[in-house]
Amino acid sequence: MSLDQPAAFRTRAIAGVLHPTTADEVAGIVRSGPRPLHPVCTGRNWGLGSGLPVGDGATVLDLAGLDRVRSIDLDRGYAVVEPGVTQGALTDLVRGTDRIFNLTGSSLHTSVIGNALERGVGVHRARTEDLVGLEVVLADGHREQVGWWPGTSAVPRQHGLGPTLTHLFTQSSFAVVTAAVVRLLPRPEEVRVLPFTFAPDDLADAVDVLRSWTAQKLVPPTTKVYNPVAAQANGVRDDYLAHVCLSGSGEVVEALGSVLAAAARRSPLVPAPASAADEVVRGTYAGDPDPADTWFLRKSQGCPAGRFDAERGLLMFLPVVPFSGAAVTRAAEMVRACCVAGPGITMNVLDSDTVDHVIGIGFPAGDPAGVAEARETLDRLHQVFGAEGFLPYRRDVDRPGTATALQARIGQALDPAGVFAAGRYASGQPSSAASLRDASDSPQRNPIRRDSSTASV
Ligand SMILES: Cc1cc2nc3c(=O)[nH]c(=O)nc-3n(C[C@H](O)[C@H](O)[C@H](O)COP(=O)(O)OP(=O)(O)OC[C@H]3O[C@@H](n4cnc5c(N)ncnc54)[C@H](O)[C@@H]3O)c2cc1C
Repeated sequence: MSLDQPAAFRTRAIAGVLHPTTADEVAGIVRSGPRPLHPVCTGRNWGLGSGLPVGDGATVLDLAGLDRVRSIDLDRGYAVVEPGVTQGALTDLVRGTDRIFNLTGSSLHTSVIGNALERGVGVHRARTEDLVGLEVVLADGHREQVGWWPGTSAVPRQHGLGPTLTHLFTQSSFAVVTAAVVRLLPRPEEVRVLPFTFAPDDLADAVDVLRSWTAQKLVPPTTKVYNPVAAQANGVRDDYLAHVCLSGSGEVVEALGSVLAAAARRSPLVPAPASAADEVVRGTYAGDPDPADTWFLRKSQGCPAGRFDAERGLLMFLPVVPFSGAAVTRAAEMVRACCVAGPGITMNVLDSDTVDHVIGIGFPAGDPAGVAEARETLDRLHQVFGAEGFLPYRRDVDRPGTATALQARIGQALDPAGVFAAGRYASGQPSSAASLRDASDSPQRNPIRRDSSTASV
């Protein structure tokens, strides 16, 4: 993991970086090593702080060296992976089989576990849906398994019996995760990604059509909509671009494709040339991504994963918005009011009522004025979206959330001595940066100001 301090964030004092390679070594460090510890998998949480902890003085526990796929079962559809296993590595293992792994749109060099712990979003569903079990090292050094594990029952199931403990440890700093069980999806017979464009003036109507298609199950809840800035990565200029993925048996895909073509003729959505959803895009949905990381490189304007923190300035804001034309149009207005040069926005449909927005505020790395402007823009977005109730589902290291009373009690019970550093989400320890509260906690009047930050992610 590179410990380039990403320019967008306050510089942290890091006490050191440890590189264990086994879960036993992790347990030993937790029992008698330095503290507080900040665990990361591959540290590529770009736009939210990458590998940085929230506070000063933490020792980073870099788990990239725990990189074994401990087991894989294609019949039952699961793999047991360690933190350093990347989505590219897991995909390579299932290429040519009757299973696929639910990939994200980030680099193939990002971690399966890191993204799941962050509750990230894959092209087929949220990564939390893929996660069925975790191995955790608790603050007292004990290793425990929660959720479903091979050998417990024949069928991997997320919830099992009784209280579900798995998600105590996602968006959490209550333990170090040393392995996870993730589901592998059945490989679809056919995968087709249909590109549609629409004009910015048709945003509300087009979103309502997509919502109706989703609610009535014409399309699965996996559509991505790119605003005109983000659409450029797929060769589309000036218009919004929607990627609608149909997958399953060839006959079903064919039939749905015809139904959609007819439905689109009665809507503002216009079928786009195949180049707007080419083989690189289709391969990611089909579980066969281009090993050269091409989809990510298009979005990062050619910057490879290993150089991203050193070369790219990026802040991300990820609010969850109701899936309706009115709400999405309101979100677009708020973004315009907060930023002069429009940022790239990707909207991920999560279900028939919910669409997350990934708003990337880019700036030249090494430009202090650009950094300051980007931070101010992000603060305004937090304030304006917070006042609307469109809250982010992920936080960055300079703007952590605060724990509820019950979350804090559980954190204190699991980690009374503060072995683990305060995280970006509910932490048992008082967060040193918690004073930078969510705008929704302290709304300000008229927070909108204009600046010139741009973004292209
Ligand atoms: C162009 C671009 C496209 C992107 N597309 C997507 C996308 O489609 N979907 C998406 O979700 N994200 C996306 N991202 C964001 C990001 O790159 C991914 O979410 C990435 O998977 C997160 O980094 P990571 O896997 O290295 O996790 P890490 O940075 O290693 O971990 C994330 C966080 O989890 C916690 N953590 C990590 N490991 C442990 C552990 N072992 N024990 C306890 N806690 C731990 C820490 O708090 C850490 O900060 C994108 C970013 C860019 C720039």
